[in-house]
Amino acid sequence: MLKPLVEDFIQLFYPLICPVCGTQLVHGEKFLCTGCLLHMPLSNYHEYEDNPVAKAFWGRVKVENATAYYLFEKGSKYQKLIHQLKYKGRKNIGLELGKMFGDNLQETVFQQVDLIIPVPLHYKKLKKRGFNQSELISHGMSEAMKKEVDTKTLVRKVANPTQTRKTRVERWENVEGIFELKDPDRFKGRHILLVDDVLTTGATLEACTDAVLEAPGTKVSIAVLAYVL
Ligand SMILES: [Zn+2]
Repeated sequence: MLKPLVEDFIQLFYPLICPVCGTQLVHGEKFLCTGCLLHMPLSNYHEYEDNPVAKAFWGRVKVENATAYYLFEKGSKYQKLIHQLKYKGRKNIGLELGKMFGDNLQETVFQQVDLIIPVPLHYKKLKKRGFNQSELISHGMSEAMKKEVDTKTLVRKVANPTQTRKTRVERWENVEGIFELKDPDRFKGRHILLVDDVLTTGATLEACTDAVLEAPGTKVSIAVLAYVL
């Protein structure tokens, strides 16, 4: 019974607030308040194959199944979850949402994957940020889905150029060929689940998929935490 007491004690000095609505969390609430958790705008895209995430890759690259955990509109309060995770270093958001996402995908086609692979950051960016948000989401998903996470095989050779003020076409060209497999045999004949935080143009995930499919007999499915409506 000591742990909850310690947590309450710490919260006296460092009150945790819900990243969505800003209210102070109470005992038993992990990272979201009960109301925001209850109203999480889930996509349930895993229930149909022709969902918007899957469609984003049609005619571009072969993807078995694709889904997103939740949806948000630009500027909506649920967008703050991603912001708090990526730029404020609230790593537990990635882990907890990853677990919820993994739970959500149990008993679906996504359970057929062999390995979970987060979209890698360039090592310089990883050093600067200190963590890879997609990796945190992957570890949460791994816990729920009982699938291994691999962060060593797929690597980013080139740092992502700054993407603001570029057109969609330029962005797409920018990331082409920036990922590679260190050890293609590791992925041979396996079904890979690529994980990212947000789907915007899909260019990064497309480039990752291209790299993974270089390994013989590989299949790729895609899971993004959030899809921007
Ligand atoms: Zn809230």
